Amino acid sequence: DGMLMSDLSRPFRMMLLVNPQSGKGQALALYNSYIQQMLNETNVLHTLIITERQNHARELVREADLSQWDAVVIMSGDGLLYEVINGLLERPDWEEAIRTPLGVLPGGSGNALAASIHHYSGASPVRSEELLLSCGFLLCKGLVSHMDLVSIRLSSGTRLFSFLSLAWGFIADVDIESEKYRHIGAVRFTIGTLVRLTSLRIYKGRLAYLPATEYCNKGGLRNKMIQCNNQASPLSPTSLLCRPSSDSPCQNTFYNSCHSNNSLTVRRTESISSRSTINTLPGPPDSMLLPLDQALPSDWVVVQEEDFVLVLAMYQSHLAEDLLMAPEATLNDGIIHLFYIRAGISRIALLRLLLAMEKGAHLAANCQHLVHTKVRALRLEPFSPKGIITVDGEVVEYGPVQAEVHRGLAKLISG
Ligand code: ADP
Ligand code: MG
Repeated sequence: DGMLMSDLSRPFRMMLLVNPQSGKGQALALYNSYIQQMLNETNVLHTLIITERQNHARELVREADLSQWDAVVIMSGDGLLYEVINGLLERPDWEEAIRTPLGVLPGGSGNALAASIHHYSGASPVRSEELLLSCGFLLCKGLVSHMDLVSIRLSSGTRLFSFLSLAWGFIADVDIESEKYRHIGAVRFTIGTLVRLTSLRIYKGRLAYLPATEYCNKGGLRNKMIQCNNQASPLSPTSLLCRPSSDSPCQNTFYNSCHSNNSLTVRRTESISSRSTINTLPGPPDSMLLPLDQALPSDWVVVQEEDFVLVLAMYQSHLAEDLLMAPEATLNDGIIHLFYIRAGISRIALLRLLLAMEKGAHLAANCQHLVHTKVRALRLEPFSPKGIITVDGEVVEYGPVQAEVHRGLAKLISG
């Protein structure tokens, strides 16, 4: 991590991708009113590129000569950054390409990463133009941090990378159904939520995850002995893994004394590395996932419920400008915050939870139906033949899906 611009003897060169259709269609006007002058005054030589269609940005960064650029910045919603990240990781030189510092300026209707960066900077919550100004200042400050990315595997074999979220059920449906209200901006999520509440559905499927512990973590904590906790607490599956220190993480048998009401943990594990993992596509290899048609590694926790209102994996604090879903999340902790809401929750209780999410108060609400756990990887197998799964707010192929976090894989200009 460090400062970007100060140690250059030449002007800083920024590729700025603006999606003129994002949000209420105002991104270009916002650029003209706020951003252009700010960048010029900071001695940033930026090249404005206006995206013309979906996947334009993805193709541009996939083909670009990255030695020409000190940073690639998007001014849009989260969808455009998703394109940029996946474009970079599709390159043969992905390992170098993904180290290009990225930046975000909120110009869309879903500006979750921008809101998260603002939140990480410690400032009090703001919206719309104020959020844009805040992100503009953070961008000009030029402090670069590593950012976790999550590798996502779909049943067709497609692999993609995600910086924000994987969603199924209520939240995914709202996100996509509310696309038609895009012209009204972030309010679309509120309206979509009310519509979906009146016809609340149950989503059936199987969910399993690898709990987050310090072992087996590639981001620097690897090989560290974690504190041994022999006191089985009935409610905290993530705190209970206990294993000896070892030079070969993931290989030893270890014991898990978790007996959560919600979870079933298989006790003895075999070495995952003795079985075939799935490492053929571009990007860094996944070390925790087995092919979808193979049984789960036995150190995974299988959630016993199969009836959900929503399942949401989050790796940033905000899911939208006014949705503080994972208050504890940071850019570079190698943790996936897994949330699910069990079926059986009343409409009014769900509405209360959703309202509490605005300030991140839902976890303190003590709702029996809401579960939050920290994981490194997960597998979700919906039972219904049709439905919506989103990655970073974009629809992906529906069906079984797996995810694994890659700590600090990308670089982001943040506060
Ligand atoms: P929003 O938050 O408003 O949804 P996004 O950044 O998520 O903003 O953009 C939405 C979609 O618009 C993305 O999938 C992106 O690929 C697509 N897109 C980019 N440029 C254009 C364009 N010129 N016309 C239409 N769609 C575009
Ligand atoms: Mg979007």
